[in-house]
Amino acid sequence: MDNADIAQRYQEITLAQHLAAATVQAPASDHNKNSDGDYECIDCDEIVEPQRVRFGLTLRCIACQQLHEKQ
Ligand SMILES: [Zn+2]
Repeated sequence: MDNADIAQRYQEITLAQHLAAATVQAPASDHNKNSDGDYECIDCDEIVEPQRVRFGLTLRCIACQQLHEKQ
């Protein structure tokens, strides 16, 4: 491996880290948060279970998330 290879590899790692950071930040979006501070499922408008919100999984309720993953 020469210096060009190392530079190339380093760029790939840096890009991957940026992508990973962006992915982690995405669920923190609160556009589906209602006026009570609860999160509403983007698919069925039911309140997302608090145990999911605690893990940052605020977009969908459990039932819709399971459906979503099967698709
Ligand atoms: Zn739902």
